Amino acid sequence: MSLGNAKRTANKEKRRDLREQLTPENEVLKDRKLIRKEVNSRLVSGTQTMTLEYDAIFNSEKASLNKDSEVLSLLFHRMFFYRLNEKLSGLTCDHTFRLSNQILTQMQLSRGKINEIVEIFKKNDGNCDCEIIFNVESQLIGH
Ligand SMILES: [Zn+2]
Repeated sequence: MSLGNAKRTANKEKRRDLREQLTPENEVLKDRKLIRKEVNSRLVSGTQTMTLEYDAIFNSEKASLNKDSEVLSLLFHRMFFYRLNEKLSGLTCDHTFRLSNQILTQMQLSRGKINEIVEIFKKNDGNCDCEIIFNVESQLIGH
């Protein structure tokens, strides 16, 4: 999925959110193997087939306040921040974009798109991998 499809995806997300409000317990994945499979599918191809527990921490109202909400929300739903958290756990951040670049490359984004996204991170006080979690993901989640 390209970033150009973000709007269409956002609409799809909105419809999905509505559906979930109607049936809140709607089949959230619990099985670790299936979770892994869903995460990889979203990362690599942007295909979302199941609901993850992680989806519930997304705060669309809060996210929409950000000027770059379209790109950042897409990254959230494609599990970029989730995977970055995973990769960072147990490591000390070397204060580069090393892990972020690895993930964005795995997401099959072009070099141009990756540079564009890194600029958006910087604009939002995400000047390295750990700051992306502390300062950027935090603008999309919780209350
Ligand atoms: Zn850092």
